[in-house]
Amino acid sequence: MASVQLTGVKKSFGALPVIHDLDLKIEDGAFVALVGPSGCGKSTLLRMIAGLEETTGGDIAIGGRLVNDLTPRERNIAMVFQNYALYPHMTVAENMGFNMKLARKPAAEIDARVNEAARMLSLTPLLGRKPSQLSGGQRQRVAMGRAVVRNPQVFLFDEPLSNLDAKLRVQMRAEIKLLHQKVRTTAIYVTHDQIEAMTLADHIVVMHGGRIEQQGHPMELYRKPANLFVAGFIGTPA
Ligand code: ADP
Ligand code: MG
Repeated sequence: MASVQLTGVKKSFGALPVIHDLDLKIEDGAFVALVGPSGCGKSTLLRMIAGLEETTGGDIAIGGRLVNDLTPRERNIAMVFQNYALYPHMTVAENMGFNMKLARKPAAEIDARVNEAARMLSLTPLLGRKPSQLSGGQRQRVAMGRAVVRNPQVFLFDEPLSNLDAKLRVQMRAEIKLLHQKVRTTAIYVTHDQIEAMTLADHIVVMHGGRIEQQGHPMELYRKPANLFVAGFIGTPA
């Protein structure tokens, strides 16, 4: 796990500024929820942290090292999206181990990691199945397992549960929380579901129009929202 630090980060798409001079420090092992309305720049921010999108200005450091100085392998970030793309012709185990196979790790080491991640996420009975033989929730769990197998420094989640029905979302939320308690990998979790943010995170960052409106412990934001925007987003002030 590693800290993530953004200093004066800016992003424009052509003439359109979407992230304005953003500073953010995320501690080693923290679980941070990034919330805010659609279009406020959450996904763009995650993509820049992952190194999938260039910044227009400022610095992003992971574990104290600038992302631009790191190769993707050194960066070692796992991203989980709502559209978990599993390889349809591979079994669950093969999907989960694919990254390690690409990195030419020995088969025994891959098996051990896959089995360990499968145990953590209750995927053991599904290891021999193909994605087409899984429910939506199971597929999302496999996508999560694939991320765990990589043993990343940082997990980035971009609304991973938004395609699931309400009951499954609640169940997966609990599983993600348990997983984080086990592995303690630094996690940044984008959601527009305030309950998800309140229950999962130990720190919430509220974004609005490419800026941070307020950040803090969930109860602090809930009890003392800095303004009406935060109050409207996190809940009603007491
Ligand atoms: P969020 O994830 O909070 O909904 P995004 O980060 O996806 O927001 O988008 C922030 C803004 O940047 C939006 O106005 C969006 O239209 C714009 N945007 C995102 N990606 C691109 C792109 N590749 N090209 C142009 N504009 C983009
Ligand atoms: Mg988004």
